[in-house]
Amino acid sequence: MEKKINNSIIKLIQGNITKEEVDAIVNAANSSLMGGGGVDGAIHRAGGPAILAECKEIRNSQGKLSTGQAVATTAGNLKAKYVIHTVGPVYKGGHKREPELLASCYQKSLMIAKEKGCKNIAFPSISTGVYGYPMDKAAKIALSTIAKFLEENSSIFEIRMVLFGEEAFNVFQKTLQEL
Ligand code: ADP
Repeated sequence: MEKKINNSIIKLIQGNITKEEVDAIVNAANSSLMGGGGVDGAIHRAGGPAILAECKEIRNSQGKLSTGQAVATTAGNLKAKYVIHTVGPVYKGGHKREPELLASCYQKSLMIAKEKGCKNIAFPSISTGVYGYPMDKAAKIALSTIAKFLEENSSIFEIRMVLFGEEAFNVFQKTLQEL
């Protein structure tokens, strides 16, 4: 399913983000930038050690990455030019700035992709795994933040949300229809 906004599209895909052929793949990282489970582990396994080596350099020069922030590395063996690592909020009930921090992950990642000249980008559903963000709430924030970016910026033509599993896909589909 897809939705057109100005001259760009938001596309929903059910699958594994490491297989996407796009300029930038976004990683739901943790603040240590040292890899982890879930999509983070999958990206490092598929991309090889070059990504982790760059993450370590960033970590050494600027310390931990705060929640809601994003940084780019190259993409190692992946079919992408960049991996953009962003740290989603851990969901603690929704009153600890989680919505604003989750929106910031999408916004900051898109701004980095724009600066790097990316024409397309793939996102996983940030924070909805180990970090426990309810899928319906996360989908609303993800898709409305992406839509707002496309209303204000025209250089990225395609934004893919790559959902792992049918349930996530269905929730995002319903949310995109209602957007
Ligand atoms: P977080 O710590 O931000 O919650 P997780 O990696 O635990 O990050 O989960 C984020 C989302 O990514 C979850 O919805 C999970 O199902 C999904 N996910 C896990 N592996 C992949 C993958 N290979 N491609 C796309 N999405 C994935």
